Amino acid sequence: MKPNRNESARQQHDAEDALFEAVISLRNSDECRNFFKDLCTPAELQALVDRWQVVEYLEQDLPYRKIHDLTGVSVTTIGRVARFLSDGFGGYRTPEQRIKIAVQKTGRLTEHSIDLLERCGLKITKSKDQLICYGENMPIDLLLVRDDDIPGLVSEDVCDLGIVGLNIVEEKRLKLESEGREGLFKQIYELDFGHCRLALAAPDATDYTGPKSLENKRIATSYVGLVRKYLKNNGINAETVYFSGAVEIAPKLGRADYICDLVSTGSTLKANGLTEVDVLMDSEAVVIQTLAPLGEEKQALVDKILQRLDGVLQVRESKYIMLHAPRAALAEIRDLLPGSEAPTVLPLDGTDDKVAVHAVCRENVFWETLENLKAAGASSLLVLPVEKMLA
Ligand code: ATP
Ligand code: ZN
Repeated sequence: MKPNRNESARQQHDAEDALFEAVISLRNSDECRNFFKDLCTPAELQALVDRWQVVEYLEQDLPYRKIHDLTGVSVTTIGRVARFLSDGFGGYRTPEQRIKIAVQKTGRLTEHSIDLLERCGLKITKSKDQLICYGENMPIDLLLVRDDDIPGLVSEDVCDLGIVGLNIVEEKRLKLESEGREGLFKQIYELDFGHCRLALAAPDATDYTGPKSLENKRIATSYVGLVRKYLKNNGINAETVYFSGAVEIAPKLGRADYICDLVSTGSTLKANGLTEVDVLMDSEAVVIQTLAPLGEEKQALVDKILQRLDGVLQVRESKYIMLHAPRAALAEIRDLLPGSEAPTVLPLDGTDDKVAVHAVCRENVFWETLENLKAAGASSLLVLPVEKMLA
């Protein structure tokens, strides 16, 4: 017997669900590739790829003709995709509008970066062995990659944002410049973690009297661009020897006279009989954003996440301070409150000459400050941590 229309629609729906469940279970692009290659004929897969490829160009507002020239996809198909992009089921939009943030996969920045994003309210399924972490409660995904790849991914608009050391950002910028290209990313925030310095070091016995001592010497480093720039700025002729890691053993191997590497405590240098002689740059983790236009919706989302990030960064040092003060001492007390804007002044029940003062201090409040406030006439002092802030 032929199933009735409703019945067959439901069956179709269930069958589709089964397929979609299978798609969701795929964990990376290799698994997807194999799945679709087995599932579709080459022509079917090509048709899917064509339509999806067109979405990105339509987002960039390119004329259909131009998209056709770039992709070979027919203008009819492009028109169809455009229609569904604006009036469809939101299917094209959903993955397009997701923000991708490049984060170091495993290393010194990983934990802090993810922690920071979690403080911004992002919930992610953590599985560090995978390339992508999907945001559960916001349309934001994390791409887990080597830190060296982050500026490139953001510059090429594969990711919208990235969290990476300034050292890597500047080195990449110089590399692109040397190739006559420009880094298509901008630096937005300094994140106050991953602090280190790019330092020049020499074997302990070396007599270093300034950059001139480097003349005609060999410097081992992973930061060839930054070292060459430093040498150029100081008018020094020296050779850079590229090491991708374990730079500190270069002098012992007889491969270099100096090294230039990242240092935080200096213990690695010490353990290798090296002394720090100069600092080329101070570094910390920063947020970079692609210069590619994001489109209105996506930009709004990026702005939202950046605003939260700003809040999280401000909150870190901020304190909420409450105290009672004689009206007469108000001006003096206001001046003593560290890094605060206009405080809230409230009347106190049953007294006219005393008020309550509440203020957010954007700096740490030390005991000395409290003692000074007390000396100025303040009483009932209370300092509280601030959990969230939205300026
Ligand atoms: P990847 O596999 O991602 O390339 P990596 O070995 O290059 O890892 P890490 O050693 O994890 O990178 O360092 C990542 C970043 O941490 C550095 O680029 C730098 O910005 C920062 N950092 C902070 N302190 C140090 C330090 N003492 N030594 C090296 N990097 C440091
Ligand atoms: Zn690296």
